[in-house]
Amino acid sequence: MLAATYLGPKKVQPGKVPDAAIRKPTDCVVRSSLTAICGSDLHTYHGANEKYQKGAGTPPIMGHEFVGIVEEVGSAVSQFKKGDRVTGAFKAACGRCDLCRRGYPSKCPYGEMFGLDTPGTQAEAVRVPYADFTLAAVPERVPDDHAIFAGDNLSTGMQAAAYGGIQPGDTVAVFGCGPVGLFAQQASFLHGAATVFAIDRSPARLELAHQFGSTPINATNGDAVAQIRDLTGGRGVDVAIEAVGMPQTVTDALNVIRPYGMVSIVGLSEAETMNFGIRAAYLNGTRFAIGTCSVQNYIRGALNLLSEGRINAAPLANTKIPLQSVAEGYERFDTDKSVFKVLMNP
Ligand code: NAD
Ligand code: ZN
Repeated sequence: MLAATYLGPKKVQPGKVPDAAIRKPTDCVVRSSLTAICGSDLHTYHGANEKYQKGAGTPPIMGHEFVGIVEEVGSAVSQFKKGDRVTGAFKAACGRCDLCRRGYPSKCPYGEMFGLDTPGTQAEAVRVPYADFTLAAVPERVPDDHAIFAGDNLSTGMQAAAYGGIQPGDTVAVFGCGPVGLFAQQASFLHGAATVFAIDRSPARLELAHQFGSTPINATNGDAVAQIRDLTGGRGVDVAIEAVGMPQTVTDALNVIRPYGMVSIVGLSEAETMNFGIRAAYLNGTRFAIGTCSVQNYIRGALNLLSEGRINAAPLANTKIPLQSVAEGYERFDTDKSVFKVLMNP
């Protein structure tokens, strides 16, 4: 079958690979109707994950987002049958271990990350481990190019807002207006936020945030915190969500909250460490949450919100190419911030 293969830093090419097949009774094989390139695929594209790609095939198959039709069903799968229209979490998890049961499937010790531990989804078909827990049925009225967001960017934005503990009437600041930040802003309003400040440097992205009801703050001059302090009469915000992944925006998030405010971090930092003002955090009573998204907790809710039209994914689904053109897709996504998401038809 055709797949996006990783041949080295900034070298992703379409190539022929062995067909996806069932390996364990808990697997399904899904024939993809749509796959996509995500912001986090860029870390792999740049070569940062070479030591983690061992399970993804030779050469490794990229990607972790998909929508498709169940083609083959393992003997231990009970929730899905051939012909079902599905999408899935970016990381498969067992659903039975202590951490899965506690609500942290992203840390399942038996988990398999698509594109690292198991072949990726940017292919004509994909093997889905622990299919009962990993897959979700797509409601009929949600088109592929909206459903594709449920298993990653949208669930992550929803978790960011949930971890922030937003109360009705709260003021929220969301750093980053990529897909994750834009969904976190929409989710913040669903939690009852009265005001959401959206911080970015890209005018096009700030404009879209504005369309979603957020108050845009251009961070180009490095004074986002000062602007938000001004607009809140010096008070700061109740909740700050960090959806960029840079020490600067984490620091800004810590500095923009009111006393005992909450910082919720979903950005994956490329830096290993950063300076953290622990004394200031103590005096302020800063609280924070950080970690990868446990998609299985949110994916079904995400699909329902899309189906009810309470989350709007349409403006983000703005670029579609054939899987055969994946090399150009990565190149463009890596450099052009007007592209929110590259959707690919196998
Ligand atoms: P993205 O690259 O599309 O968005 C990041 C945005 O931050 C861009 O719009 C960029 O213009 C903006 N930005 C850059 N520097 C800035 C600054 N100094 N101040 C304000 N804005 C700035 O990425 P995305 O797909 O939306 O993902 C956001 C982050 O979330 C990434 O770090 C990604 O790796 C991470 N992520 C985490 C999870 C998880 O499970 N925790 C899942 C998906 C993505
Ligand atoms: Zn588990």
